[in-house]
Amino acid sequence: MRKPIIVGNWKMNKTIAEAVSFVDAIEPLLHDDADFGVGVPFLTLEKSVAHAKHLLIAAQNVHFEDSGAFTGEVSVSMLKEVGVTWCIIGHSERRTYFGETDATVNKKALKLVANQITPIICVGETLAQFEAGETESVVRTQTAAALNGLAGDNVAALVIAYEPVWAIGTGKNATKEIAQDTCAIVRDEVKKNFGPEVAEKVRIQYGGSVKPENIREYMAEADIDGALIGGASLKVDSFKAIIDALKA
Ligand code: PGA
Repeated sequence: MRKPIIVGNWKMNKTIAEAVSFVDAIEPLLHDDADFGVGVPFLTLEKSVAHAKHLLIAAQNVHFEDSGAFTGEVSVSMLKEVGVTWCIIGHSERRTYFGETDATVNKKALKLVANQITPIICVGETLAQFEAGETESVVRTQTAAALNGLAGDNVAALVIAYEPVWAIGTGKNATKEIAQDTCAIVRDEVKKNFGPEVAEKVRIQYGGSVKPENIREYMAEADIDGALIGGASLKVDSFKAIIDALKA
């Protein structure tokens, strides 16, 4: 059985003070029926980690080089120094606005895994690709590329988030059927490359306009093991409602 995993993605939201007060408010609400985490801005990582007991604190990006002339970037050792053990990579906003590619996502995945930080790897098609019927080929290509060169054990332990770009921040969430079908395709691609045991273990999230009102229908699907949640992870009340919805 795969343990459900819910991760908030705050994007470029929350000051250090706001992050700490969120973590303090959420901690007592957590339960063991699922893993819960938040992807937070770099500057809020250290204090968020210090205040978190059970909440997983993730970075939202990392550079794949160890150090050097990469103005504005943050390395894996910098994340490790503040106790970060999770990192989101390949988010569509990084791909669209900051030149993230399948190749850089793969380099980041390899670097994180080599340093005992668990990647949450985002894949997903654009609206144009969805309308052209290219969803399957896009997510298969992105998934295979991101995981290239990783060991099966490492793949089994990481998280892949299927996020159709057209559903992110739009309020137009994918139907549970689309989300299930595409998460099953992602799992099948893992199976093709790493075998059935790894595919059975890897946790796959759906992301894109997930909220308290629709989380349960996604979680009822066989290949959806959790959610990556933007807007609805920013307020304690809505994140609490999602936490409560995950109680077995
Ligand atoms: P959303 O964002 O929940 O606001 O659609 C999801 C994401 O970008 O991970």
